[in-house]
Amino acid sequence: MDARTGLPVVGMVGGGQLARMTHQAAIALGQSLRVLADTVDDGAALVASDVVVGDYRSLDDLRAFARGCDVVTFDHEHVPNEHIRALVADGVVVHPGPDALQFAQDKSAMRRRLTELGVPCPRWATVASERELDEFAAATGWPVVLKASSGGYDGKGVWVVGSLAEAAEVLGSGTALIVEEKVAIVRELAVDVARSPFGQGSVWPVVETVQRDGICVEVLAPAPDLDEDTAEEAQALALRIAQELGVTGMLAVELFETADGLVVNELAMRPHNSAHWTIEGARTSQFEQHLRAVLDYPLGATSPTAPVTVMANLLGGPDDVVPKGLDERVHHLMARWPDVKIHLYGKQFRPGRKVGHVTALGDELDSVRARARAAADYLMNGDAR
Ligand code: ADP
Repeated sequence: MDARTGLPVVGMVGGGQLARMTHQAAIALGQSLRVLADTVDDGAALVASDVVVGDYRSLDDLRAFARGCDVVTFDHEHVPNEHIRALVADGVVVHPGPDALQFAQDKSAMRRRLTELGVPCPRWATVASERELDEFAAATGWPVVLKASSGGYDGKGVWVVGSLAEAAEVLGSGTALIVEEKVAIVRELAVDVARSPFGQGSVWPVVETVQRDGICVEVLAPAPDLDEDTAEEAQALALRIAQELGVTGMLAVELFETADGLVVNELAMRPHNSAHWTIEGARTSQFEQHLRAVLDYPLGATSPTAPVTVMANLLGGPDDVVPKGLDERVHHLMARWPDVKIHLYGKQFRPGRKVGHVTALGDELDSVRARARAAADYLMNGDAR
């Protein structure tokens, strides 16, 4: 408890944009997010006052950080699970807890558990040798998708391979791997839910996540032309997963829509890119909801504020630098699309890196999407198509 405010202190491990936007939501709740950042230049460290610089892989640093926190939570999945267990053994309140979080940290554990629960998944197996891979591919056909069991993000750690020869390097790298059939994806969807320790659950409309080169470039909320039954099925599935796995806080369930229905791709147990649209597009944003959930407060209403919301990510261009004239483009963008909302994360620009996003709302998908797309392109490339 913060004696000055009489309100709880939430500590978030990781100082990226998710912590930065969670801090923004914490301010409205009378709080200030405590952040364990890698460096003073991290996006959240630039804006929060209660910043500890330390190493999330060090139990000593985590322990020092947790002191004085009412609850510890995460902006990424990379804290070693055994360290989280040690914190819990110390008496620290951690949400999500290690038993749930392992399913967002380890893809083989996730696939095994979801398969046990009867949740539709691509055909999959753990794989450690050419023989095992060959056997799997003989059943599913090539190409197949190899995935690092842990540590991947934004498509890093995912390899589509068409033959044993193509798989040789990854197989020989010593990384723990799973293999999945290559799903014939119609489109990618996501369902974001929150669950509190009390057991309350909440869910936003199902969204479409538009991907390019393994990176999400746009989120369309709600997913266009998704029939009501499928949408309800997806929402119920995500809430069930949250409950069965004992998730506390935000859970993003990434789905593939196929000709035969939905299959789960992966899980994230933290605020997620697929729900950034909720900042303007829903009564309660995912960041506020994450705070409410980890604090075991009642959850907020998730109803949309507009018929259509589109979020477009701002991805770093070919150079490692802030694009020339960014400030001027912000100015022009605001003048041209006064309703578009800009979010910049204060991050170093690197090729393909998510450095911000824009959000547009309205009544009709095509025009809202065109506005969000044009605004994002203009901001990053000075090119409003
Ligand atoms: P990350 O952990 O890096 O986000 P994902 O497991 O989400 O990795 O995979 C990244 C992308 O690769 C997915 O969004 C999808 O486009 C593609 N992909 C992943 N698994 C499969 C699969 N089994 N079949 C077809 N495409 C896949």
